[in-house]
Amino acid sequence: MSALIRLEGVGRSYGGAGGAPAARALSDVSLSIREGEYVAIVGASGSGKSTLMHILGCLDRPDSGAYHFEGRDVAALPADERARLRREAFGFVFQGYHLIPTDSALENAALPALYAGEDREARERRAAALLERLGMGGRLAHRPAQLSGGQQQRVSIARALANGGRVILADEPTGALDTQSGAEVMALFDELSAQGHTIILITHDPQVAARARRVIEIRDGRVVGDRPGEGGDAPSDAPEPEGGAGAPGAPARDGRAAGQGGRRRSGRSGADHAPAASALAESWRAAWRAMALNRVRTALTLLGIVAGVASVIVMLAIGRGAKEQVVRQMGALGAAILYVSGGVAPEGGVAGVVTLDDLAAVAELPEIAHVMPVIGNPVMLRHGAYSRPSYVVASTADLPAIHRWPVALGRFHIAAENRELAPVVVLGSRLRQRLLPDVADPIGQLVLVDATPFEVIGVMSAKGAESGSENYDDQAFIPFDTGRARVFTAIGEPEYAVIEARSPQDAVAAEAAMRDLLRARHGRESFSIGNAAAKLQAAAESRNAMTLMLGLIAAVSLLVGGIGVMNVMLMTVRERTREIGIRMAVGARQRDIRRQFLTEAALVSVCGGAAGVALGLGIGTALLAAGAELVFSLTAILGAFGCAVATGLASGLMPARAAARLDPVAALSGG
Ligand code: ADP
Ligand code: MG
Repeated sequence: MSALIRLEGVGRSYGGAGGAPAARALSDVSLSIREGEYVAIVGASGSGKSTLMHILGCLDRPDSGAYHFEGRDVAALPADERARLRREAFGFVFQGYHLIPTDSALENAALPALYAGEDREARERRAAALLERLGMGGRLAHRPAQLSGGQQQRVSIARALANGGRVILADEPTGALDTQSGAEVMALFDELSAQGHTIILITHDPQVAARARRVIEIRDGRVVGDRPGEGGDAPSDAPEPEGGAGAPGAPARDGRAAGQGGRRRSGRSGADHAPAASALAESWRAAWRAMALNRVRTALTLLGIVAGVASVIVMLAIGRGAKEQVVRQMGALGAAILYVSGGVAPEGGVAGVVTLDDLAAVAELPEIAHVMPVIGNPVMLRHGAYSRPSYVVASTADLPAIHRWPVALGRFHIAAENRELAPVVVLGSRLRQRLLPDVADPIGQLVLVDATPFEVIGVMSAKGAESGSENYDDQAFIPFDTGRARVFTAIGEPEYAVIEARSPQDAVAAEAAMRDLLRARHGRESFSIGNAAAKLQAAAESRNAMTLMLGLIAAVSLLVGGIGVMNVMLMTVRERTREIGIRMAVGARQRDIRRQFLTEAALVSVCGGAAGVALGLGIGTALLAAGAELVFSLTAILGAFGCAVATGLASGLMPARAAARLDPVAALSGG
């Protein structure tokens, strides 16, 4: 029968780096162990027993010599292949039990099957059966801290059997137990051996060693004895004990059968493309538990992300609100409006006049869409008892279009009425209330403008409501030529003109072209041009800059939140090295460990992001209620949430890799 395990000249030293002398824990160990043997390794404390077992169980690698398992050179295997051996061939039982403290007995016993790719139901059913038969049926939901030492050791034996436990490696399994529990645990090993499991047991207790069929003695890292034990001489022909079908024997038989099945199955599929759904569910569960366990710390970490996300949402909403305000003003005033009027040249002299001829020339410029001459002055208005001066505007029919100002009732005056000098008037909405308070239908009413009767043909919509310039609503509007002929008889030329560029983008070019044209016509700059469009554009740009700045501040706070998550993840790895070691010892691959820590980072940042969105919407709603100008943007909300999750994941990446790279033995001993 060829050896299952064969060591040739294996050595292992510790330290030795940086000039310190290397401590030789094992030197030139050669031994072979066949399938089904029951071996005790004995020796004084510090003689190298644990080191040997770690090497046998692929938790550690020798630095000299060779280790063959089933004829394969283990040292040459990549990390994941060695994880697979740990998962499929070995079951560990440690002196200190090494159970995961946050998991129940059932979850602990089922852990190796998780990494072998079994779904939750199957692995927990089998773990429950194993625990049941080890006498732990009533304590499946207990956590390690709620169990006695003997009970914890039974859980760890059930865990060693979860994937079959072909080779059971036990490092002083009774060392921490009282005599009674120790004896019970030893009886379990005897019967597992009888079932055909290969058992390698470390002990310094001669009574324990006496039960094995072979005793290997080691001293100062060397094998100094290898003799048959009192438990029997040849493992291969060991008889089934009388009570072989009895209590603890049964799980071994079941466990082994299931384990061999599991080995074949995972050899085909489970080991290399992992059971995504189940493993992911398990990582979420573990992540949730880790988060719940450190509630205060998690909350504090989250605070950074929450504040970051909330501030991104609120700041961008404020920025966008401000911008929309400008856009609305542009809409109200007309987006591309310029004003031109006569004025005094910088070099002095007589004030210039912009004539109708000048305006006709301006209207020819390609950048200009509309030119509207205006004369506006206070004039006495009368109807019934009302008699007060009001501002009367004489303009062309373009006024509603240029000012984006619709008529509410009736209609505006038209070009034909201008030509015919028709005495028609359109009233501002408030002027209509004051001038004709008792009249149900103002259309067709006659009012006196100065002393001339004008017919009311329309009422403007209220402008004050949207632009805050209520005085527009007190004005009256008449055709330009009617005005010159009947009201403003002393005024020949327009007082000013409202000019609309083809588009807001043309406003600056239109201003320049008009300036050049008028300067050429007048020979000097005896006019002035107001460019509301350019001012609004400038305002919009400055608000864009403000939005950008607010967004940057918010992004920085989001980044700080991400760094917080990274910090906590790094601390978590440090705190949980032992847990990582346990998971590796039962066969977790590096990617399983990585996924677990990434999942934790994701969970933390998804929770933080969601809380941040809620807080941001809350603050924003409160500001809205207080009257602030605020526009939420779905893009900003999704973007901030996405960034939070992405920063969280990115900052979890490093700790996750750090955790996955830990050496199993180093992790087990607590880092
Ligand atoms: P045993 O299990 O027989 O008590 P170990 O295998 O734990 O012995 O240790 C063998 C020797 O190796 C001891 O001298 C111990 O101090 C040393 N040793 C074990 N682990 C380490 C380690 N991680 N770093 C340095 N020295 C170690
Ligand atoms: Mg030891």
